[in-house]
Amino acid sequence: MTSNSHPHLLAPLNLGFTTLKNRVIMGSMHTGLEDRFYNYAKLAAYFAERAKGGVGLMVTGGISPNRSGWLLPFGGTMNHLLDIYNHRKVTKAVHQEGGKIVMQILHSGRYGYQPLVVSASDKKSPISLFKPRALTEAGIQSTIRDYVRCARLAQKAGYDGVEIMGSEGYLLNQFLCARTNLRQDRWGGSIDNRMRLPLEIVTRVRAAVGTNFIIMYRHSILDLVDGGNSWDDVVTVAQALERAGVTLFNTGIGWHEARIPTIVTSVPRAAFRSVAARLKAVVSVPVVASNRINTPDVAEDILASGDADMVSMARPFLADPDFVNKVAASRADEINTCIGCNQACLDHTFSNQRASCLVNPRAGHETELVYTKKSVSKKVAVVGSGPAGLSAATTAAECGHEVTLFDSNSSIGGQFNIARLVPGKEEFSETLRYFTRRLQVTGVKLQLNHRVTRAELLAGDFDDIILATGIVPRTPPIKGVDHPKVLSYIDVLLHKKPVGKSVAIIGAGGIGFDVAEYLLHDPAITLPQSVDHWCAEWGVDLHATVNGGLTKPVPATPFRQLYLLQRKASKLGAGLGKTSGWVHRATLQRGGVEMLAGVEYLSIDDAGLHIRVGGQTRVLEVDNVILCAGQDSLTELLPTEPSPRFHCIGGAKLAAELDAKRAIREGAELAASL
Ligand code: FAD
Ligand code: NAP
Ligand code: SF4
Repeated sequence: MTSNSHPHLLAPLNLGFTTLKNRVIMGSMHTGLEDRFYNYAKLAAYFAERAKGGVGLMVTGGISPNRSGWLLPFGGTMNHLLDIYNHRKVTKAVHQEGGKIVMQILHSGRYGYQPLVVSASDKKSPISLFKPRALTEAGIQSTIRDYVRCARLAQKAGYDGVEIMGSEGYLLNQFLCARTNLRQDRWGGSIDNRMRLPLEIVTRVRAAVGTNFIIMYRHSILDLVDGGNSWDDVVTVAQALERAGVTLFNTGIGWHEARIPTIVTSVPRAAFRSVAARLKAVVSVPVVASNRINTPDVAEDILASGDADMVSMARPFLADPDFVNKVAASRADEINTCIGCNQACLDHTFSNQRASCLVNPRAGHETELVYTKKSVSKKVAVVGSGPAGLSAATTAAECGHEVTLFDSNSSIGGQFNIARLVPGKEEFSETLRYFTRRLQVTGVKLQLNHRVTRAELLAGDFDDIILATGIVPRTPPIKGVDHPKVLSYIDVLLHKKPVGKSVAIIGAGGIGFDVAEYLLHDPAITLPQSVDHWCAEWGVDLHATVNGGLTKPVPATPFRQLYLLQRKASKLGAGLGKTSGWVHRATLQRGGVEMLAGVEYLSIDDAGLHIRVGGQTRVLEVDNVILCAGQDSLTELLPTEPSPRFHCIGGAKLAAELDAKRAIREGAELAASL
């Protein structure tokens, strides 16, 4: 691949008063660092690393123009001259690396998780506990003044512009749509009235900051909620905002309360590009496409086809700060690709933890997890090339150690080789592609088809031995568990053992859910899902004829009859990711899966699976029973006597609550400390 293969992505964009060096924007992400003044040095390092990586323009996480706009109590605010001090650390660091950055002004409206919330009307959102107060005329006027002050302070702080957040269901979106704007004064009713607030804000911000300052407006081009705007309204708003002084339009898809997934890994890549293209056709300022764009090839294709003038990628810059530089240096195959899992970014944000990245644990920890070349090169053995072992081996090699990586399998990846076979998890293959290349680049010696023994390790001359041997699937002690109709998830996913038309799945953790999705899927339908197929399944009308783009879903016919079971009495899937669990639950509900909690497993025989639930015994007359009952650590290589040379990470260290996020982070942290 040569850099010539991405000419549109690397082409500069002249905005008249300033030029962006390429067509890539790092979209806004709330990291958690922007909320506390003492974290701004870390925030500056985070942005500087990405500016150095060559991205054309970055957007900060949302900064509120006042206290009522806080997403969380005491969230990042720009409403006082003193706030400039912290933000200058960020702008200075970014400019020193030759980058550009705009500050996002985000008023959360009724999405705020705090008691001061305001909105267009006093209608509570389904995703916040707090009922908003409807803004009065005076409140609206002071909110506009707060936006203007915020933009001017951002200018003083050295930002290259601001992004005004008008999408995802935040305050300005709440004014724009009849769903949340029930007002009967001049700020509600017709679209002319509903758009008055964003229009006033853009007009007065432009007047305050002058012409040579970027105003990017994040416009909601597909609300995906009942009572969302029609396409005609979307166009009316965009054209008015353009006249008011917007420099370029970023695009937003779906409100946070929408029950349509818009960024999780099962959403097809660039699913919404056609909507951005339709906006581009009706405005004359540049338009930015967004959502599920994660590789340079997809980005290049969007730009080359003329669907958009720029592309926004947010999470891909957590996964790899050097994304653009790698493309420019013809090293696109070395990009660590965002797999859309949300596990360390959005799931962290929604549980009040600092955002990071499953595939790149340095994200958000740039000053804390540092891979430095060591003065003494050690001989390191890593056993197991699952996520933990791959992370440890490549990081240790990057730090200058001489590393040998062993695996008994014929390919690297451990359980990721199974995960990637689940419908909607095709992106997991990218992590294996990345590590395959990173092993080569860092010079790790790879020995596949080599089952290591303890004796071999003890006899070797390794300074450090890292055990990353993972897990073994658990076989629960149920009477008849050795019946021929019983299969493990590995039999089903990896070995493709035949499975009948009715199936009971024992265990409703992440793997139980994944196996259910795999078994519901009709193998005649090719994967990854096409955009048309996905839209039909979820009921998305990309033309937004009415109702914010919602239409009647046409779910696929379930391929099998499934039961998903657990012993706990809690809701099934309660332990899945905060931002993705509901997608899995909705998929299984659509597929007619019977989900049972509080189950006691009695026995398995020719008749099926005998259970007791709610005090009643029941026979599930199934062709197969599939075990997804968790895992135990594989510890056969641990030395009998404690030895400082031996280290244990990932599943081998602790199988409970293991996921790839923990496995990769433990590998990186251990290797960096050797
Ligand atoms: P493993 O991936 O189990 O790797 C261990 C490796 O060690 C294997 O390759 C094995 O061959 C090798 N090995 C063992 N013994 C020896 C020996 N003696 N000599 C040489 N080699 C040896 N996690 C998530 O975070 N998100 C998800 O969405 C997700 N989805 C999943 C879906 C499925 C269907 C499955 C099965 C797993 C999923 N996981 C997911 C879990 C994730 O894959 C694991 O947490 C992760 O792989 C654990 O990494 P590990 O390196 O500790 O172990
Ligand atoms: P898990 O999430 O721990 O689930 C194990 C399931 O097995 C639970 O439902 C548990 O429920 C059941 N179970 C445990 N012991 C049992 C026994 N003795 N008999 C019968 N049932 C038993 O583990 P997993 O599904 O194997 O997944 C492994 C790891 O991969 C998880 O930590 C998960 O985070 C990760 N993963 C994540 C995703 C994702 O989308 N984020 C997807 C797949 C996997 P009861 O004890 O109530 O019966
Ligand atoms: Fe992407 Fe997952 Fe990393 Fe988030 S945690 S940036 S979704 S790979």
